[in-house]
Amino acid sequence: MKYLCSKPTVVLGVVLTLIMSPPLTAGAASRSLKSVRMHESPEYTRVVFDISGSVRYELFTLENPRRVVIDLADTAPVPGFDPEAVSHARNRVKAVRGSPRGQDYRVVLDLAGALEPKSFTLEPVPPYGHRLVVDLYSTRTQQKPAFVPKPDGKRDVIVAVDAGHGGEDPGAIGPRGIREKDVVMKIARRLETKLNQAEGYRAVMVRTGDYYLAHRLRTQAARDAQAHLFVSIHADAFKSPDVDGASVYTLSDRGATSETARWLAASENASDLIGGVEQEVVSGEQEDYLLKAILEVSMDANRSASLEVGDRVLSRLGGVTKLHRKRVEQAGFLVLKSPDIPSILVETGFISNPSEASRLGSAAYQEKIADAIFEGIRTYMSSRAPEGTLVAWRREQGGQRYTITPGDTLSGIAVRYGTSTRRIKEVNGLASDRIRVGQVITIPAG
Ligand SMILES: [Zn+2]
Repeated sequence: MKYLCSKPTVVLGVVLTLIMSPPLTAGAASRSLKSVRMHESPEYTRVVFDISGSVRYELFTLENPRRVVIDLADTAPVPGFDPEAVSHARNRVKAVRGSPRGQDYRVVLDLAGALEPKSFTLEPVPPYGHRLVVDLYSTRTQQKPAFVPKPDGKRDVIVAVDAGHGGEDPGAIGPRGIREKDVVMKIARRLETKLNQAEGYRAVMVRTGDYYLAHRLRTQAARDAQAHLFVSIHADAFKSPDVDGASVYTLSDRGATSETARWLAASENASDLIGGVEQEVVSGEQEDYLLKAILEVSMDANRSASLEVGDRVLSRLGGVTKLHRKRVEQAGFLVLKSPDIPSILVETGFISNPSEASRLGSAAYQEKIADAIFEGIRTYMSSRAPEGTLVAWRREQGGQRYTITPGDTLSGIAVRYGTSTRRIKEVNGLASDRIRVGQVITIPAG
């Protein structure tokens, strides 16, 4: 008080400065931090900041305790934002804290161990605005489960099962908030179980949880697993809620076979923007195109194999649901761009159609769809299993089982498996050419 009285002008000067310079007053930052989300992948935890505009930021790590600090320049959180309420698993990030620092906002992530941060920003893409992404990588490489190879000539047929979307990318959203990424994961898990229970088959899940994986990393995962087949599972939306039914797609690089196929491929390909892919992965995409050019010849064989397996799966799907398309459609889906692995994308239905959405949400229907995909794969592999696999070995030993599907005829089956109607009837003790859907018959070898 004494000081105030003796030097009134100085104090007034300080007060004026406080009022007149907005940078020092709270709430005057030009951007706002709207929310923070976290997604867990086996390799990293992704922390996503939703910010009202493009943001300058500084990121650094500190020890004792181990933490990552992110200073968002000229940014203030929206009223009511509570960093400690950000929901997350605690295996990598123990706690989230936040505090204003002058005109900036500081977020501190308390880490559970040594993690390597990588950060990048993403331009707005519906449904998101500007995002800052901080991926916290585990520095110790994850121990992969020990894989004991089967003896030569009796290896498993390996199927890469890809549940579409994930993490930042919910995929299509249907009535009552049903999300494609959740539905397709449930179907994928059921398919995984069926494959792993069948002798001679092994499933490899491309994504194992709720996180986003770039298209290129999905095809890479299939290659790393030495998969014989890649199956991507989706359930999409269309402008009109009336559209329904399942369909199957393969890759085309000569244009789409229909308007819907073109539209779907474009919307699926946009996933990398929504899910958030860092520049390194995007530039890696260029190398894939080069690889593709080199393997142009094997691409042709791959294309027809993809169409064939797609056809088997589509025909099985036709037994459990309405088909949106009666034949396998083709379009430029990025996720199907494996030059050497037959790849299909299964559209299990339209989540934008209210009754189909509620079916897709039910366990019984998910099971039916998974079963149809599985049986389609098995039918294809029973005649096309790669050499050196148990399934191929069984075929060579003679006899394989086949379940009759709608539209099958004995003569059609005979042509497909390179045998004769007479031989099939002989082996199965059939008196006539009559067969019924669901009947299991033995196809003689050779
Ligand atoms: Zn999708």
